[in-house]
Order: sequence, then C-alpha cells, then structure tokens
Amino acid sequence: MTDILSLTPEELKEQIVSLGQPAFRAKQISSWLKAGVRDFSQMSNLPKELRETLAQQFSLTAPVLLRAQTSALDGTGKFLWGLQDGNCVETVLMRYRYGNSVCISSQVGCRQGCAFCASTIGGLIRSLTAGEMLDEVLFTELENNVKISNIVLMGIGEPLDNLDNVIRFLRLVSHPEGRNLSLRHITASTCGLPEGIRRLAEEELPITLSVSLHAPDDETRSRIMPSNCGITLLTEVCREYVKRTGRRLSFEYAMIAGVNDSDRQAEQLARLAGLLGAHVNLIPLNYVAERGLTPSSPSVIRHFQTMLEEKNVNVTVRRSLGGDIDASCGQLRRNHMKNH
Ligand code: SAH
Repeated sequence: MTDILSLTPEELKEQIVSLGQPAFRAKQISSWLKAGVRDFSQMSNLPKELRETLAQQFSLTAPVLLRAQTSALDGTGKFLWGLQDGNCVETVLMRYRYGNSVCISSQVGCRQGCAFCASTIGGLIRSLTAGEMLDEVLFTELENNVKISNIVLMGIGEPLDNLDNVIRFLRLVSHPEGRNLSLRHITASTCGLPEGIRRLAEEELPITLSVSLHAPDDETRSRIMPSNCGITLLTEVCREYVKRTGRRLSFEYAMIAGVNDSDRQAEQLARLAGLLGAHVNLIPLNYVAERGLTPSSPSVIRHFQTMLEEKNVNVTVRRSLGGDIDASCGQLRRNHMKNH
C-alpha cells in the first residue's frame, strides 16, 4: 500500500487521476489530510465508493499523543507520539518572541553512538517516513492550536542517515500546496556524515545546516562521537556545502567539563569556525543520567565564549529551554521505554 502522507501534491494528483477520478479530488483529499483527518471514511465530500477505494489502495497513519509536558519555566512543550507500529518519537515546541519553533525527530532511535546523547542508547529502530515527520509538525500545531514558523531537525535520529525521506519531507513541508513553510526557516542538524552532506548540497535546498562538532580535534571528537569522519574531511565537505548552497553553516558545541572546554580547544575551534565562516552555538551539556558526563561550569563557558569572540567568531550561548521536562534529545522516549 502506498503511504498517502508521503506523496507530493503532484504525485497524489497523478494517482487519483490514474484511478479514473477528476484531479480536483486530490485537492479535496489534501485538505482533509491538512486538517488532521486520518480516516478516509470521514472525508465526507468524496463519493463513498472513492473513499472505499482509497482505503484499499493507501495506508493512512496517525500519531497518537502518549504524553505531553509543558515547562513551568518557559512554556516549552514536549510531546511523545505513538506511531502506528507501536514505536514512539518526541517533538519539542519552543515559543520564542519571533514565533513558534518545533524540533522534530527523524528516526526512532539513532545509530551514531554519541557519548553524551540519550537518543542513541538503544540503537536505531527505524527511520521515519516523510509523512510521519510532517505529522510531527501538523499534530503539534493542531494539539496546541499554534502556527509554527520554524522547524529544526534536531530531535531523535540522524537526518542524514535518513536522507531520502528527509529530502522528501523538506519538499512536502515547503510545497506551496502543502504546508508552504519557507525552507529558509528550516535547520537540519547532523553529526557530520560526509556523504550525506555532499548529497544534501547537491539538492541545493536553502535550509540551514548545523554541524554538531562538539570537539575541534580528532582525538576528542572520535572519543565522544564514534561517527567522526575526521576533522579534515568534515571541513572539506562543509566548505563544499557552503560554496554550493551559499548558506551559512553553524556549529553546535555542547560544553562538557574537562572534555572539550580547554583554552587550546577554544583556539582550535576558532580556527575552524573562521575557516568556514561558521556561527558557533555553545550549549551547556544537558545532563543525561546514563551518560556520566557533566556540563562545563557557567564561568568556563563564559571564558570559552570570550576566547572565541576575541578571535572574531560569531558565537551564541544557547539558553537551555525546558530544563524541568527532560527536554534534551531522546530523554522522554527513554523514560517512557523504561517504564513500559
Ligand atoms: N543527529 C543530529 C541531530 C540530533 S541531536 C546531530 O547529531 O546533530 C541534536 C543536537 O543535540 C546535536 O547537536 C546533539 O549533539 C545535541 N545533543 C545530544 N545530546 C545532548 C546533551 N546531552 N546535551 C546537549 N546537547 C546534546
């Protein structure tokens, strides 16, 4: 059966026409899907016979809200969605002055093995379909009665390990007949898979690429990120990416006490960021009980930031949102699995 939620408007039209139906039926179906209707029999402006044919030809899934948490500190919302096959993923809604931003998952679990991350503890279960990613956005909007203006692919999973579906998702969510959200308001975050970065560059999508660097030297990076391809190769593919897309790159850098927060590492990071014109986001490590790593102290972070600024690096210290609701990557799913 074809997954109807992952079809582009053009593909849906083609399929509907091939069923001997007029093309406008595709638009009617899309409107129901956009309204969150997940049962063909409820699509009341379609002929009954067509509704039955659709149910036979297409699969139609719906995420079920298993848990919702709202931060008392900053209003950040976290949602655990149950998928059709019993797996679950999480989505975070962040409310900023400039608009609402949603952080979505791209896989159930992750196989990249980063030493500080909760998402990778049980390995990769499966990748999400484009439709499932789209539904994280749509159902977060419907559930909270909000409009989302920004998307970050920084939830569970490695987007470049699910690149075909992620590219399809990007095309769907930005389609004028779909959610029509500007690609310029979307950021994809990667642990730095070189082949994926190259392929993404070829697509020339004007999204922002965020590279989770976390260490500027291979010894440290390989220790905390087993997927490290080597700083030299990573720098090379990042440079190609910037050249090809004309988009600015950013580095994510989670500050871990005694691991990646030395003066020497600040200097090395400044050199890399300078080379690529990258913006650096410093994030105090979110403590994950299973991981045994601790965040750098605020004074160390400030000093590290100052060192970067002195070398003219564009740097932001990320505010940590949702500290009271396990808002860090993979924590909610992890706690849910422990209890079931
Ligand atoms: N796989 C992608 C996206 C998912 S992780 C990637 O690696 O970028 C989203 C971001 O959260 C990444 O920068 C990741 O390194 C970071 N992250 C994971 N666990 C963290 C923790 N405990 N504290 C701070 N950042 C963390």
